[in-house]
Amino acid sequence: MSSLLTKFAPLRSSGLLSLSRPLLFTSKLHAQASKFDDKRESQGLCFEHSEESKSYIELASKFVRDEIIPKAGHYDKTGEYPWDVIKKAHSLGLLNLFVPAQYGGPGLSLVDNLLISEEIAYGCTGIGTAFITNALAGSPILFHGSEMLKNKYLGWLTSEPIMASYCVTEPGTGSDVSGLKTKAVKVDEKNWAINGQKMWITNAGMASFYFVLTRTNPDPNAKQSEAFTGFVVDRNTPGITVGRKEENMGQRCSDTRGLTFENVIVPSENMVGPEGKGFIVAMSAFDFTRPAVAAAAVGLARRCLDEASKYALERKAFGQPIANYQAIQFKLAEMMIGVETARLAYLKAGWLHDRGEKNTLMASIAKCYAASIANRSATEAVQVFGGAGFNCDYPVEKLYRDAKILQIYEGTEEIQKIVIAREHIKHMKTLAH
Ligand SMILES: Cc1cc2nc3c(=O)[nH]c(=O)nc-3n(C[C@H](O)[C@H](O)[C@H](O)COP(=O)(O)OP(=O)(O)OC[C@H]3O[C@@H](n4cnc5c(N)ncnc54)[C@H](O)[C@@H]3O)c2cc1C
Repeated sequence: MSSLLTKFAPLRSSGLLSLSRPLLFTSKLHAQASKFDDKRESQGLCFEHSEESKSYIELASKFVRDEIIPKAGHYDKTGEYPWDVIKKAHSLGLLNLFVPAQYGGPGLSLVDNLLISEEIAYGCTGIGTAFITNALAGSPILFHGSEMLKNKYLGWLTSEPIMASYCVTEPGTGSDVSGLKTKAVKVDEKNWAINGQKMWITNAGMASFYFVLTRTNPDPNAKQSEAFTGFVVDRNTPGITVGRKEENMGQRCSDTRGLTFENVIVPSENMVGPEGKGFIVAMSAFDFTRPAVAAAAVGLARRCLDEASKYALERKAFGQPIANYQAIQFKLAEMMIGVETARLAYLKAGWLHDRGEKNTLMASIAKCYAASIANRSATEAVQVFGGAGFNCDYPVEKLYRDAKILQIYEGTEEIQKIVIAREHIKHMKTLAH
């Protein structure tokens, strides 16, 4: 395990570091009275990083500098899966940070997970997507799985550098999860048989296990909340066919494939959560991972800002660096506003989750907003680079291609707005009564 895990182990056992509490952005009751009214106490938010948080961020940032940035271009060009980066990240304790200590992970708060996701994405969102997908596949198990499933599959993630996939989307349906057709049928008291197809599954060709959402209620009119069931399926189970690697516009080293399940026999004990409750189980992962996509989007936007700023200071036009022109300065200012405000949005989503509060609304706001900031920043970074921005030997065209998927996977921009509006209207209705 990582040196960091070892370093903080004594603090944990002494109870000085709680595994579940947020390590940053914690709510603090300031005992100090307000300057303006000595009867009022101000309840503030603390942006200070804990020592553990700082150490992880420094480790991640060094890892990005030494291991990701120098290799990201190669993986983008070849589309090879970044196994060497993944193995090294695993050996340093930078993978699967969401896994609690009893299953071998560091059990970091969601806020800390997000700060580290931002760092990794600064180096390459393609590599970052491979990392985040383990959390996407692992969180239904963490939140709804039996102790046996947690020990086996979360323990596996932390003990070996393996990958996992989250399989919900199908060729015929993505946003409309209720339309999925992959079926699981009970074959006897101990087993289920899965038949169907999944599409656009990240890590599918590299994963050792899959979280698979299936329809288990034969009634086509069954309510969404009663129609589906989630299972963990081992990759080597007979009947699974892994499709070819899809050629994508960006995040090209991320492994995206279709999967076919033909009479795949899965033990009942691999059911995640109760039978029929799979929709809730599968969707619960998004409260955890949409903020992570938002954090990745901030990492990409920050990289755009840095690359564009460096270039603007070097590149001269009409006798002076283009950074001297207000048109360019405004682009950099807009990018900076985006990075800072989108980070606040994902931190709030993470903070709510770490406090045990429902964060669905904030997770969608953060994902929707940060993904759009990443795309705007990438467009502007290309513009700042001029012709060089369109060329593959410069860094920003990759950022431009990589940014787009952030507005599509884990729920499109439109779906986030549907969630935001629904949650808001629900809230307004409660006020009206
Ligand atoms: C690279 C990549 C990796 C992915 N990884 C995974 C993964 O690991 N696991 C997984 O399960 N899935 C994964 N996906 C699938 C992804 O989540 C879906 O592509 C996404 O949810 C959209 O679904 P769809 O492609 O079927 O589009 P559709 O649902 O067909 O939507 C098409 C368009 O219509 C819009 N739309 C749909 N419904 C509405 C509505 N009610 N109101 C307004 N607009 C609407 C959408 O926003 C979109 O713009 C991945 C996809 C890609 C491309």
